Amino acid sequence: MVEVSDGTNQKIAPTPLRMCQYCAEEIKISAKVCRYCSGIQRGFFRFFNHIRIAEVLSIVLSVSLLVFAIAQFKRAQLQLSEAREANSKAQKALDTATNTEVQASEIEKRVFAARRDVLEVVQTIAEVAEILSHSGEVMGGGLDEKNKALLKKRLDLMRDKLAKSGPR
Ligand SMILES: [Zn+2]
Repeated sequence: MVEVSDGTNQKIAPTPLRMCQYCAEEIKISAKVCRYCSGIQRGFFRFFNHIRIAEVLSIVLSVSLLVFAIAQFKRAQLQLSEAREANSKAQKALDTATNTEVQASEIEKRVFAARRDVLEVVQTIAEVAEILSHSGEVMGGGLDEKNKALLKKRLDLMRDKLAKSGPR
């Protein structure tokens, strides 16, 4: 006869044990965390068994400060370059304004010179006209009273204009 095992009388194998690598207590081989010392037995987080929270905070803080300092430096650099650009633009604007001012002043000088030339011509005409009117009197003829009066009127008008339109 062949014995058939239904599995009910199977012996339960003892749980395999191993030693915790941190506190040396015996723990189950499949344990992820030691039940005595809470040491993490496997995986990436085993890393945390070797460091303290203060050290982690210190590293995080240092890295944050470094990142912040670099950001500040970059920002300052950007502001400096912006300031330089603005300064250069302002300088260009100032140069243009100065040039325009110089040109305006040159044009003003030319206008003034042209005005003076016109005034000199007018003055010459006035003088010639006055001489003509006197010559008429001396020679006892030439201009009649009506024309003399007209000439005198024009002459007075011109003198008046000349007196009023001197240099500013
Ligand atoms: Zn342990």
